[in-house]
Amino acid sequence: MADESFVTLATNDSYVKGALVLGSSLRDSRTTRRLTVLITPHVSNPMRQVLEKVFDEVKLVDVLDSGDSAHLALLKRPELGVTLTKLHCWGLTHYSKCVFMDADTMVLSNIDELFEREELSAAPDPGWPDCFNSGVFVFRPSIETFNQLLQLATEKGSFDGGDQGLLNTFFSSWSTTDISKHLPFIYNLSSISIYSYLPAFKAFGTNAKVVHFLGRMKPWNYSYDSKTKTVKDDAHDPTMVHPEFLDMWWNIFITNILPLLQQHGAIKDTATGVKAEEVAEAVSHLSLSSPAQASSPPPAMSSEERKERWEQGQADYMGADSFDNIQKKLDTYLQ
Ligand code: UDP
Ligand code: MN
Repeated sequence: MADESFVTLATNDSYVKGALVLGSSLRDSRTTRRLTVLITPHVSNPMRQVLEKVFDEVKLVDVLDSGDSAHLALLKRPELGVTLTKLHCWGLTHYSKCVFMDADTMVLSNIDELFEREELSAAPDPGWPDCFNSGVFVFRPSIETFNQLLQLATEKGSFDGGDQGLLNTFFSSWSTTDISKHLPFIYNLSSISIYSYLPAFKAFGTNAKVVHFLGRMKPWNYSYDSKTKTVKDDAHDPTMVHPEFLDMWWNIFITNILPLLQQHGAIKDTATGVKAEEVAEAVSHLSLSSPAQASSPPPAMSSEERKERWEQGQADYMGADSFDNIQKKLDTYLQ
């Protein structure tokens, strides 16, 4: 199985946290495939060392410095930065087949059976189910495909500004041709769907194999209480009806990842000499997730940007577009 790999991407230290939890969850699932992570130069050295512990291959891709057609495409379409980086997964030609997974996904059980599927297999997007969601997809590395994708990116751009729009335009027959390329939704269960179709989640949620923390609030943006082993619902978030996946993410982070980060000096040792649990507690408060000092608060968005994302089906159900906020807005109109 040395020629097949799971692949993820992290362009900064925040997304590295996600990649590490994903990698760790894949190891826990006893996958027989290799684990590869693409990183960019912004990822810090200690974080790279920790990635080396969890992944078989840590590959640096630098679109800005590549001097190839990807760089040329970026000059014409600067808005496609992360998208073009993600396309580099097609350059992993020492593998015959790969499964790409966003760094904000986590596996709940072994999913090696995905390697029996063909390019391009993916699950429907919850916002527009005739499009596939590009958080989990099966692909075959190929320089030819990579170049064709770049050409499309340069000539037409992406209808949603990201990789999902571009890939759906490129693999446009996905919705109508081969049903075996439609992955069941349980391979890419977005947290948004739990909220928007709770009865379905209650009926089928126990079969979930991959959870995708799609949207602006990522697991590493929440606070975690390591005593109760639960994520804190500071904002009284109405979408947190089933926070158990967030709690699982944090549990993997505290148990498997935090010790590695401490070992490699990837986090400041704010509590030298105290028990590991206390360090975990301190860390989850101080440097990782306190809303006041979060290392990576979700970027502030203009109302114009928010409207655009809403129109793209990417409502921020966990934050600005939460039910509470919508109700407040409606109340102001009624008054
Ligand atoms: N990503 C990254 N750095 C960024 C944004 C995205 O490395 O600043 C990668 C990461 O693997 C992430 C994927 O691109 O999971 C897609 O972005 P995201 O998951 O934030 O989008 P969503 O699934 O919420 O639409
Ligand atoms: Mn994602």
